[in-house]
Amino acid sequence: MTEHLYYHDSFLYEFDAEVLEVSAADSRTALILDRTAFYPTSGGQVFDTGWIIAGDNKARVTEVAEKDDGTILHLLEGSFQIQTGARIRGLIDIDRRRDHMQQHSGQHVLSAASVRLFNLPTVSFHMGAESCSIDLDAKTLTQEQVQAAEALANDIVTQDRPVGTRFVTQEEAQGLGLRKLPPVERDKLRLIDIHDFDLTACGGTHVASTGQIGCILLRKIEKVRQGWRVEFVCGKHAVATARRDYTTLAESAGLFSSHLWDVPQQVRKFQDEARAFRKSGEQLLEELAGLYASQLLRETPESGGRRVVVRIFPERDLAFIKLLAQKLTRLNPDAVALLGTTCGQPALVFAQSPGQPFDMGDLMKETLARVGGRGGGSKDMSQGGPVQVEAIAALLHEVAARLGG
Ligand SMILES: [Zn+2]
Repeated sequence: MTEHLYYHDSFLYEFDAEVLEVSAADSRTALILDRTAFYPTSGGQVFDTGWIIAGDNKARVTEVAEKDDGTILHLLEGSFQIQTGARIRGLIDIDRRRDHMQQHSGQHVLSAASVRLFNLPTVSFHMGAESCSIDLDAKTLTQEQVQAAEALANDIVTQDRPVGTRFVTQEEAQGLGLRKLPPVERDKLRLIDIHDFDLTACGGTHVASTGQIGCILLRKIEKVRQGWRVEFVCGKHAVATARRDYTTLAESAGLFSSHLWDVPQQVRKFQDEARAFRKSGEQLLEELAGLYASQLLRETPESGGRRVVVRIFPERDLAFIKLLAQKLTRLNPDAVALLGTTCGQPALVFAQSPGQPFDMGDLMKETLARVGGRGGGSKDMSQGGPVQVEAIAALLHEVAARLGG
């Protein structure tokens, strides 16, 4: 079993150790040391990275994992020439470790604040690259509660309370009123003590006083199966996140030439306007289709007791020619419309006034089957495509001739 140096000092960034075992895992060299300051993924906190130096050789530590028996596996980038028994120096990536300390200690403060204010215990903790989250055992969670928890958590940060670490037996732990006990029974429990605010069992690396957390920023909340998930970021990560949010919001405000805080109002205004434009556009098309239909019916001579309107529209889409077909067959009791569009995907629409004897669905199916397209519809109205642009005129006239138009 590896001696866990990080249990006693989260600020130990360099250490010496002896290599106990060298193996290969997924084409990476894996080392087991007699002692380590590298934190392995556990308890919601993700692993440290850093470097292992042996003589003149230096290798990047890309992942650290803990095995069931407590030994810790250091996975190195690429293959690394090293023997069992060699002495190495380990260097922890300080920025990453400090970030993890800020996030994890921030989580303890936030979880304790949720219990103090609303008696909502934390059931899980997740540390991600973008943000962290805790799941609260809660049936409901309001924005007001979230903001109150955030305010209390930041008060605790500002008060710069000492954060201590100590080890106790299971028995000693019973009477201490711990916020959370670890899932597995161990002889010794490691306690993280935020002075006069929170005492909990945890193996993670933590700040020395709450001021080092910097700040705690709560973000999205969402309902999950086991309660409510609260997303948060702490310290430098919180500043970077707020900076990114600001940049996004400032860019949006620039598009509207408005103040940042007026962006939602501006978006609502634009949505309303867009809805109004869409509606008036639809009305205009409807009117245009009506006028077009009257004109086409006037221009089309009656033949065999009906008017067969044949027309191709290069600049009107399928939706418009369907609308036009409706108008044509409603304005006149003996109209047949054979329309095509070459705007976008070329398509055909066939329609007849109610009571006319043909079957437009069948007619469309047959017509398109001959040119490799697909189509169909009801007895009075059908559509289909695609058809080759060059073939449309001939097809429509052929159909018109069949109908005696
Ligand atoms: Zn913890």
